[in-house]
Amino acid sequence: MRIGTGWDLHRLVEGRRLVIGGVDIPAPFGEEGHSDGDALVHAVIDALFGAVGDGDIGSHYPDTDPKYRGISSLVLLADARSRLGSFGIVNLDTTVILQAPKLRPYIDPIRLSLARTLDIDPSRVSVKAKTTEHLLEHAIIAQAAVLLA
Ligand code: MG
Repeated sequence: MRIGTGWDLHRLVEGRRLVIGGVDIPAPFGEEGHSDGDALVHAVIDALFGAVGDGDIGSHYPDTDPKYRGISSLVLLADARSRLGSFGIVNLDTTVILQAPKLRPYIDPIRLSLARTLDIDPSRVSVKAKTTEHLLEHAIIAQAAVLLA
């Protein structure tokens, strides 16, 4: 078995989409980034590469490469999933830390989106949401832990 963890932070700015786990969430701001800025998916990708000891998101999909500009991070996640060799995903546990908007209505769509892209049952995917007690209004943070077997 292998365990991996991932972490990501993106600045929130006006004029960008807020994409979390591949789900577009209505908000007056979104994630700055070279790709779509999906911090949750980036954390999951790092957890997958960490579990197999194969670098990180930046080494596989460098943000200096124009071919990744504006790309859906789900495309990168599907590619990362294909690089696990003989390992399968036992479960994925994630946390999104964001002051607003409230994520409760989007938790299940996000779980389904991640599970579909990873080709695993949604029961193996956990998405939890926390606020920042108003200490961090202009950033989104995501954490992920994955178990492979
Ligand atoms: Mg990122």
